[in-house]
Amino acid sequence: MSNTEIIDILELTAKLMELHDGDAFKIKSFQTAAFNLDKTSEDLTKLSFPELIKLPGVGKAVAGKVLQIVETGRLQDLDDLLAQTPEGVLQMFRIKGIGAKKIRMLWRELGIDTIRDLRLACESGEIARIKGFGEKTQQAILDSLVFLENQTGKLRMDKAEALANMLLDVFEKEFSRVEITGQVRQKAEEVETVQFVISTANPVAAFAFLNSLSYLEQNVIESTPFVWRGQASGYEVMLEIVTAAPGQFESQLFIHSAAEKHLATTGSTGWTLLQTSMAFPAEAEEAVYQRAGLPYVVPEMREGNHEFVWSQNHSPNDLVTWDALRGILHNHSTYSDGKHSLEQMATYCRELGFQYFGIADHSQTASYAHGLEPYRIRQQHEEIDRLNEQFGGSFRILKGIESDILGDGSLDYDDEILASFDYVVASVHSNLSMTSEKATARLISAIQNPYTTILGHPTGRLLLARAGYPIDYKAVIDACAERGVVIEINASPWRLDIDWRWIQYAISKGVMLSINPDAHEMAGFHDMHYGVGVARKGGLTKNMTFNALTLKEMETYLQSRRQRI
Ligand SMILES: [Zn+2]
Ligand SMILES: [Zn+2]
Repeated sequence: MSNTEIIDILELTAKLMELHDGDAFKIKSFQTAAFNLDKTSEDLTKLSFPELIKLPGVGKAVAGKVLQIVETGRLQDLDDLLAQTPEGVLQMFRIKGIGAKKIRMLWRELGIDTIRDLRLACESGEIARIKGFGEKTQQAILDSLVFLENQTGKLRMDKAEALANMLLDVFEKEFSRVEITGQVRQKAEEVETVQFVISTANPVAAFAFLNSLSYLEQNVIESTPFVWRGQASGYEVMLEIVTAAPGQFESQLFIHSAAEKHLATTGSTGWTLLQTSMAFPAEAEEAVYQRAGLPYVVPEMREGNHEFVWSQNHSPNDLVTWDALRGILHNHSTYSDGKHSLEQMATYCRELGFQYFGIADHSQTASYAHGLEPYRIRQQHEEIDRLNEQFGGSFRILKGIESDILGDGSLDYDDEILASFDYVVASVHSNLSMTSEKATARLISAIQNPYTTILGHPTGRLLLARAGYPIDYKAVIDACAERGVVIEINASPWRLDIDWRWIQYAISKGVMLSINPDAHEMAGFHDMHYGVGVARKGGLTKNMTFNALTLKEMETYLQSRRQRI
């Protein structure tokens, strides 16, 4: 253990004591010791207790702590404090411009305990209104959040795609052929490497071009003569640019768009896909599958999981697409915490060519999001009736609600009010730290409520920010199958929840999935793009996609469900 590591532990302990309103004297003693130890040239791991207390700024208490760190590699005080601190609150210490006191205020007084909530609060202007914060601090927090988000070494799908597309524009001007490959092409929900294949007969010249771009920095050690590796400035994610001679381009494109296990699959010819592609490097992907005697698999499904089992009963044309979607079901408006009005949202939905818009604002318990009390539901329903009259028969607003699943698994209104909706999305938003048993029981009890139509974001995860509560996926999906409840694929790139790895199981049980953007503004509808990406990755077919039902089919479905209650 190095001096720096020991000092870091003392500093973090001091910060967390401050966060938890600990004893001021004790905090000061940790801070002073850390400050002074940072200047010492002695190796702290070699010092005895008497030697430690001779150092300036180090009292007996802290000397004991240093010994504990050296001997055990950890500090009990810190472990205890960490156990009481939510992950998201801990992450706030990385934000420039706010210290323990401000973080404490955000957490304790405003209930903000994730980076995402903090960001939303900044974006809505809520933070600037808090005493002691103001417009400037709010902007500083936002700037720092943007920076940190790009620094974690991983990017969410939306950010990675944006970065890839930006670079694609540049590369396309220089090279005769360029394709995005790897995790972005394969629609991974978290991306560690943004990858391209470029066509060039001259890798040296290609590298020279890449290195002439001021915002790219090559990592010479990681690179090879044919693969440029490095980073784009402002991003910690790995950037990998594979050069391919024109005659090898197809093969390189294919090999970099599939998992190893997928490439190792042997077809009826006795050759693997990898062998086939390498033997016929100029052949396009479809032809490679054909030559190997295997059915074609789309890039997003090439995971080496069960794609060839899936292929026995389905073809790529069965997969859901954006164009197959007929309506959008999980959305918010200014009635709860959305940015745009019900009319704006619905009108835009119709402009995009959809047949129905399902409003699902928050329910009454979600007071932080202006959840709807019964009288406001009535107001909303009156407005919907009025708007539907204007829209005529070809487009309809469906009356939904995103009802909180309360701690005991019940929904957030009595039956009379629940009966006034066309459909109900049931989601967990509070008390997220649960054991798998508790969470599963809570979800199943909500699934068993006859008014539940769709189970919303089943685990509550926020990618790269919050893990989500553990659930027994099979038990939850089985319960949905038994009750005819649809499961959401929340299409927000923050969530992508249910995880695509469970789509096949759900389908095998006859459970339909709904690709829901959880849009809080008009532009939010476009998040369905990411939902479609992961849905296809999981093998979701059009006929098992709930919001691929036409308006007529949807109305019939919802009506018959209501009759069964
Ligand atoms: Zn929700
Ligand atoms: Zn929602």
